[in-house]
Amino acid sequence: MDFKTFNFHPSITAGISAAGYQTPTPIQRKAIPAVLKGRDIMGLAQTGTGKTAAFVLPILERLQSGGRGFVRALIIAPTRELAEQINENICSLGRKTGIRSISIYGGVNIKPQIAKVARGVEIVVACPGRLLDQLNQKTISLSRLEVLVLDEADHMFDMGFFPDIKRIMQQLPAQRQSLLFSATMPNEIRHLARKVLIEPVTVQIGITAPAETVSHAIYPVAHHLKTKLLLELLKSTATESVLIFTRTKHRAKRIGEQLAKKGFKAASIQGNLSQNKRQAALNGFRDGTYQILVATDIAARGIDVSRVSHVINYDIPATPDAYIHRIGRTGRAASTGDAFTLVTDDDISMVRAIERVLRASIQSKGIDGFDYDVPAPKNNQEFARPPRTSTPRRKPLQRQRTSGARKPTGSGKPKSRPSGKKSNTDSKPRRGGAFRSSRPQ
Ligand code: AMP
Repeated sequence: MDFKTFNFHPSITAGISAAGYQTPTPIQRKAIPAVLKGRDIMGLAQTGTGKTAAFVLPILERLQSGGRGFVRALIIAPTRELAEQINENICSLGRKTGIRSISIYGGVNIKPQIAKVARGVEIVVACPGRLLDQLNQKTISLSRLEVLVLDEADHMFDMGFFPDIKRIMQQLPAQRQSLLFSATMPNEIRHLARKVLIEPVTVQIGITAPAETVSHAIYPVAHHLKTKLLLELLKSTATESVLIFTRTKHRAKRIGEQLAKKGFKAASIQGNLSQNKRQAALNGFRDGTYQILVATDIAARGIDVSRVSHVINYDIPATPDAYIHRIGRTGRAASTGDAFTLVTDDDISMVRAIERVLRASIQSKGIDGFDYDVPAPKNNQEFARPPRTSTPRRKPLQRQRTSGARKPTGSGKPKSRPSGKKSNTDSKPRRGGAFRSSRPQ
């Protein structure tokens, strides 16, 4: 199947060719015909599947006919970066159509956004808060809206945007086409879908499994050695663009600085940065000025950097869903990617939870020659942990031995490691064959 099947207007076909898309992705194959027919859609798809074009292309087609100069399509997204990215996608795919699109989000001056709306636009991509500001100031009207898209609805819920969305919905015409996209389907999203969508067509692409083009590995390591291991990993791995995730803003900033000091082309983004600085870091990452971007989950949401070869979780994410979202940045569209996660003994249960979602065990790896036994520095607050309670101690994670192909090595009992010996020479598969052997990086 190619894009000709959809019979798009020549101006849209020109945009598709200019973007270099040759064949539709699975979500595009399934969603585009239904959206073109005017149906409501419940799209279960993660970032990286081509879901943006799945709704942008049929919206552009619809807007080819009918009036211009007023808002006919509204896309609501959780973050400024995602809104910006969707808007760029629209401008790129719709470059020959004459259809105008803008993005509206907080953290920057509202006046230029108001002025652009006043000059006349057909598509608005907005974050909920700033859109409400404009609706309240009556600087934008949605009374003639034809299509509504709620993108990354699960993130909007996580970020507490549902009350804002409800207020926005009250200002929309009842008769409209509605599309709702979400990577996961918790009850809250089901509930929202029942309210917003009418007889929707459900389009589902790998809801719980991440892109199959991604390979996963964990790197067991003590907490205080994470940064050292990260540096070794970066030195010994052939990478293109690398996105590194941390749990805290402070850590994202610190690791970005440490990597830059060590000579890596690295930047960080986190919520404390001004919008201009965030955008500069993102642009630098996109155009290759920075090879490495360190980010928190919130700051990195929805980032589309097509050539991310590696996602490295410096800190394991808080939920399996967050893991899927993080690794959604690599292996996008047709290319492949690697997802590395540094894990401490405290992360065992989360590793298991992620494995359940992946329906596969994750390879455990180690780096040859890395000294895993360096003791933690004394009086270092960063690594200070609350004292362990009397709960039974879990079995520690083990790194895997090197030689041999990537296949199960049998189910030997885990061996305890003689102290002082490098770990990647001694570990065996965990009981139940949880870890497979692998070549160290
Ligand atoms: P998305 O899931 O919408 O964030 O898209 C992920 C990436 O895939 C983006 O870089 C898109 O430009 C790209 N993409 C979307 N559709 C196609 C396609 N049919 N062929 C190749 N790349 C695509």
